[in-house]
Amino acid sequence: MIVAKSEFVKSSAEVNQCPVDSRWDFAFIGRSNVGKSSLINMLCNRVALAKVSATPGKTQLINHFLINDRFYIVDLPGYGYAKVSKSVKDDFQKIIRNYVLERQNMALLFVLVDSRHEPQKIDLEFMRFLGENGVPFAIVFTKADKLSEKQLSDRLEVYKSRMLEEWEEMPDYFISSSAHSVGRNEILDYIDDVCKNLDNAD
Ligand code: GDP
Repeated sequence: MIVAKSEFVKSSAEVNQCPVDSRWDFAFIGRSNVGKSSLINMLCNRVALAKVSATPGKTQLINHFLINDRFYIVDLPGYGYAKVSKSVKDDFQKIIRNYVLERQNMALLFVLVDSRHEPQKIDLEFMRFLGENGVPFAIVFTKADKLSEKQLSDRLEVYKSRMLEEWEEMPDYFISSSAHSVGRNEILDYIDDVCKNLDNAD
């Protein structure tokens, strides 16, 4: 898919403030600092459409970006940032929960995980929550440029075996590097396919 047009539409503090129309949302979520803003900017072909945060955990809003007038890329608040207070963390959870469970337009959630790390409890718990609620998702392993090919494939094997302890199969997944523009076409083509499938199902 070619991104001919990408524009910021709106920041929403609550799910009921999100844009109301019939376009699909493709939302991006992960622990703070996982590389979400960088990935969104890479997908949208923009240098700073989503703000690359110097302060992890800063984004507490749901940001909608309209792509090719056709679908939304949605930047959700990061989760699991240890240095925010308990009450701010609860806000993150509530806004995320409400969006994930109530947003009718949501087509798919991309759960970002840092490819360098062992499977993290909070990510596994979040994916479990998605599974329990029947929310479609795919995983994006970010910052792949920070690993050698061998390290990356070893990390993936570890992640897959951990996932298969509780999932029947490995969810769809992508490898990305915003620094080296890796994964862009694959993710955009996947979004295109999901849109087509959903539109045909209507
Ligand atoms: P967010 O908090 O999840 O939105 O993460 P950001 O996109 O703000 O990125 C956090 C930090 O990781 C920044 O210093 C980015 O420059 C860096 N970063 C993000 N993506 C990549 C990547 O693909 N490769 C490398 N090497 N660094 C990245």
